Amino acid sequence: MTESTGNEFASRISRPGVFLDRDGTIIEEKHYLSRPEDVVLLPTAADTIARLNSLGIAVAVVTNQAGIARGYFPETLVAEVHARLDDLLAPFGAKIDRYDYCPHHATEGQGKYRIDCNCRKPKPGMLTRAAEELGIDLSRSLMIGDRFGDLQAGANAGCQSALVRTGYGASVSLDFEGESVRFRGAFASLADAVDDWMRSLGSGSNGIRDLADP
Ligand SMILES: [Mg+2]
Ligand SMILES: [Zn+2]
Repeated sequence: MTESTGNEFASRISRPGVFLDRDGTIIEEKHYLSRPEDVVLLPTAADTIARLNSLGIAVAVVTNQAGIARGYFPETLVAEVHARLDDLLAPFGAKIDRYDYCPHHATEGQGKYRIDCNCRKPKPGMLTRAAEELGIDLSRSLMIGDRFGDLQAGANAGCQSALVRTGYGASVSLDFEGESVRFRGAFASLADAVDDWMRSLGSGSNGIRDLADP
């Protein structure tokens, strides 16, 4: 019993994690999604999340929801959307371990939401908080998203990053102008991005391609 507890503790404090942007990465980008019934999974999302679950890799969603700050929808909508997403994932045996969202905007926010917070991507606040809660080793982890700010948030948290060509990712330029984003590449789907990263985990090579220093 003691040994078993020790092993669980050891794996808990050191496991890798995958941080996922939500809109345009797991589900279709709907431009300020404001109705749970508009949640539509992207083709490889559920299977990929289930695969990560089965390997004991933490799966955390980190999503900017400035629609709250802008008054487009109430903060309570976020929990409804995430409950809907959970319902769509469950039949695949897929589960998001933790959701973090940022309701703020520094210049467009109304009332209490108008703050220069530490959680709005490209800042790393949501990733570092989730890492603490889930026992994720950031240096062995990956952030996947469809916008440049997602890649920056991953790098700012000490993770690698990957772009998916879904959502806004279809038109993101890979000319990062000397920014260091610990970038692994651009991939057609979530499955392809995770496949690439999984291969690097076992190989001993970190697989990082830093565009600032090619
Ligand atoms: Mg997105
Ligand atoms: Zn925030």
